[in-house]
Amino acid sequence: MGPTRAYIDHRNLIHNLTLIQKAVAPATVMGVVKAEAYGHGSIEAARTLLANGVNYLGVAFPEEGIKLRKAGIDVPILVFGAHLPHFFPQFLDYKLDITLTDVEQLEPLRALCRKYGLRPRVQIKIDTGMGRVGFLFDRQQDLIFKIIEEPAWQVVGVYSHLSSADEEDTTFTLQQIKEFSRIKSVIQQKYPELNALFHLANSAAIMRFKESYFDMVRPGVMLYGNPPSPAFNLQWPLKEVMAFKSKLTLIKKLDAHQPVSYNRRYYTPRPTYIGLVPAGYADGYNRKFTNRGQVLIRGKRYPVVGTVCMDQFLVDLGPRLNGVKVGDEVVLFGKQENAHIKIIEISEKLETIPYEVTCWVSGRVPRIHL
Ligand code: PLP
Repeated sequence: MGPTRAYIDHRNLIHNLTLIQKAVAPATVMGVVKAEAYGHGSIEAARTLLANGVNYLGVAFPEEGIKLRKAGIDVPILVFGAHLPHFFPQFLDYKLDITLTDVEQLEPLRALCRKYGLRPRVQIKIDTGMGRVGFLFDRQQDLIFKIIEEPAWQVVGVYSHLSSADEEDTTFTLQQIKEFSRIKSVIQQKYPELNALFHLANSAAIMRFKESYFDMVRPGVMLYGNPPSPAFNLQWPLKEVMAFKSKLTLIKKLDAHQPVSYNRRYYTPRPTYIGLVPAGYADGYNRKFTNRGQVLIRGKRYPVVGTVCMDQFLVDLGPRLNGVKVGDEVVLFGKQENAHIKIIEISEKLETIPYEVTCWVSGRVPRIHL
């Protein structure tokens, strides 16, 4: 497997969770652990969250919920997204909260409930401006009321998703919050007995809009210590949960003007030592770091040179090694001595968002849970 590892610091996860819990109380926290907890490991992340006061989890696909159930996790798990009816038996078998978002889902689900004599938990998703999953409240109000009144299932939640909470201009988000609030009032006035959680806020909203908290918040990216986007002016003292590290496995001296890696995208400007790091784009070290990345060795930054390969990349260590040797730790992102390559820095450089950086770290990389 080689020496490349992702270190998952659960103390930092607890630190971030605690900040959120204190800020949003009395609202509760749903731990969003989809996509392997944004690359951190869903079972391990979920266990830490549950041991620290979380009692609801969110995932994107039924298989992700089933994996948690098979690991013995028995708290409610909401599966976001729109799902084809032929997946419904899985939701029923594993007692996962089904997101209802389309009239076409209703009859197949009703038929299944009848067949198995089960009364599943469902959540109604409302589209308040994301233009993705969810009923359009004003157009489909009667249908939503029918879903609430349906005896075949139990409506345990009503939720919506914000599209723009990380933008400087807050106008659209405030509109979405207001709309969700209005919908909540309409539903609660008509069904005062309805025992459902209303929830809306993602990380950016938790950081910025107290009025978005409702009964429960749904943080993902901030739990893992990252702000939603590089542009976002982060006020919260979050701590990164993942660090990505490898080791130097080869050092060799090249003369001046020697080509390095595929397609000769780098030529040594002088005689220099080239170090080999056995991690590549198949591990989640993006190929766009070709001639652009930096890593830490002995607390100092070194440039990534030449094309990043599938399983390895190269670093220009300079004409003098200053003690750097084979076996030294190489930090792709994370801390080393007093230096720190932040995940947000990586995302900025590659013109993406921190979510993607931790999701890139592939299944080939062992996670070491600290
Ligand atoms: N809620 C839903 C429905 C989501 O799809 C997501 C993630 O995309 C989240 C909450 C968490 O979002 P974030 O990671 O921005 O906190």
